[in-house]
Amino acid sequence: MARYTEAVCRLCRRVGEKLMLKGDRCYTSKCALERRNTPPGYRITARRRTKKSDRGLQLQEKQKARYTYGVLERQFRKFFAEAERLPGVTGENLLVLLERRLDNVVYRLGFASSRAQARQLVRHGHFLLNGRKTNIPSCLVKPGDVISWREGSTRTEYYKILVKEIEDRIVPSWLLLDKEKTVGRVQSLPVAADIEVKFDEKAIVEYYSR
Ligand code: SF4
Repeated sequence: MARYTEAVCRLCRRVGEKLMLKGDRCYTSKCALERRNTPPGYRITARRRTKKSDRGLQLQEKQKARYTYGVLERQFRKFFAEAERLPGVTGENLLVLLERRLDNVVYRLGFASSRAQARQLVRHGHFLLNGRKTNIPSCLVKPGDVISWREGSTRTEYYKILVKEIEDRIVPSWLLLDKEKTVGRVQSLPVAADIEVKFDEKAIVEYYSR
């Protein structure tokens, strides 16, 4: 399965915003963007950033969303086509579809410190979706779905540490987390206000409308 292999901090530096791709490190002074807020490959940049055209800004918003959810262009276009097909506002539909990805839900439940780590855990088959092993990170959850750990995975060192760490975890209102059983439940579909990183979804729609 295709995926990004370059250093993810470069993606934040490219768009000039913290996309929180590295879990706990993003909250520390080790954050690459806090140390060097310049696009990769450029030395003088502040002026460059202000010169973006409308098209450049639209592209940047689209890339921000792609990088945040770790979705490659082809798959992102498929999400956009689906968002256009659904009733309602296309931009909001798009963000809601991205938010419903299983890897994102695993991350939002606190079972992983970043979406990239969540994607890897899902791919390695650590989770059950409604009691069935699911290893497809892009699978979309729906209200009533239950995400639990596979029994074998609950014997790992990672899981034992996680159980302590999620004691203080606050999850978004569309999810419910049973901290004792480390089981997550989808209560409702997310709404635009639930999205962690803010995007200008209208700019994304305009980018694809040309
Ligand atoms: Fe982005 Fe996190 Fe890297 Fe900072 S540490 S540049 S927020 S991925």
